[in-house]
Amino acid sequence: MYTADGRRFLDFGAGIAVSSLGHGHEGLVKAIAEQAARVMHVSNLYRIPQAEKLAGRLVAHSFADSVFFCNSGAEANEGMVKMIRKTQAGRGHPERTRVICCTGAFHGRTLAMIAATGNPAYLEGFGAPVEGFDHVPFNNMNALRAAITPQTAGIMLEPIQGETGIKQADPQFMTGLRQVCDEFGLILALDEVQTGMGRTGQLFAHEAYGVTPDVISVAKGIAGGFPMGAILANEEVAASMGAGSHGTTFGGNPLACAAANAVLDVILAEGFVGQVATTGETLGEGLKSLVRKHPTVFELARGRGLMWGLKCRLPVAQVQAQAMEEGLLTVTAGENVLRLLPPLIVSSEECQEACAILSRAATILEAAENNKTNPVESQA
Ligand SMILES: *Cc1c(COP(=O)(O)O)cnc(C)c1O
Repeated sequence: MYTADGRRFLDFGAGIAVSSLGHGHEGLVKAIAEQAARVMHVSNLYRIPQAEKLAGRLVAHSFADSVFFCNSGAEANEGMVKMIRKTQAGRGHPERTRVICCTGAFHGRTLAMIAATGNPAYLEGFGAPVEGFDHVPFNNMNALRAAITPQTAGIMLEPIQGETGIKQADPQFMTGLRQVCDEFGLILALDEVQTGMGRTGQLFAHEAYGVTPDVISVAKGIAGGFPMGAILANEEVAASMGAGSHGTTFGGNPLACAAANAVLDVILAEGFVGQVATTGETLGEGLKSLVRKHPTVFELARGRGLMWGLKCRLPVAQVQAQAMEEGLLTVTAGENVLRLLPPLIVSSEECQEACAILSRAATILEAAENNKTNPVESQA
């Protein structure tokens, strides 16, 4: 990216994991321009071939049998929670309405999703939280089992917690979730809004765990910057939503679907997500060596694919500002973590350049810290 005055930035924030094809990608721009010139919106009162094509491709490449399109991550999660409840009602369990979520989660900013998120800072000032969400510590199967009651309908969580600092679900925890859902008749719902659409080096993050969910939400990178969300569900969960049970005016419009199809043209190309994984390893290696080189600035690097967190020892806002000064855009996350979420088309060379920029920023910050602790010595 370039500023109006011509300064160059490497964008490793990608609008919070959204601009999966970077900025000004030829195929994406062309698809949007051509579709905009024909028809942007008709409402889903009519069949939309672009949406049917997109849904077909998502179904063909996932566990899902059906897809519902909407416009954002929070909206996808809202629909997903409705589907969890409706599926239980359809099974003859209308009393099962509660959803177990994890502490440190992020599910969006609507009234119900701030309750699902459970972060007191996001709930403050908005009245009584929406009922129906119970929280257990992330990666704690004993606590999760203990939280199940006759009212529990399902479990909703992120395979990798993004906003809280790139924290990955343990493989045993993910496998255990599927077992516990089968044992108690619960719906396993994954929030893949940030981890989905190739971000982690698989089309969806749950694939790496070998766990099959019942329903997932996606958004962020799905249409490369055009606002869109989607719910991917298995047959039972999708079928629970009969005609009139849910709806949308904008969801799945021809323009959004044309954008998402253009993104899929790239992501589903032979070897592309594998390339994301390989490039991600290069980035991870670079970040780990950065931590070894600058132990007073960075504490550790964690992540998968092109979703990395750099836990800082200095205040993360300071590190982010210095990196930006040196030409690198990043995003912050909880637990004093700097988040790196480059476009999925990023090259290994660009990842190395990002690490070099971070190293320069760290050197400057180290010198400033030294100045603070040894003012006399550094003046001499
Ligand atoms: C960003 C995000 C959301 C919310 O998406 P919006 O499009 O901002 O509503 C929900 N869940 C996760 C995991 C996210 O990263």
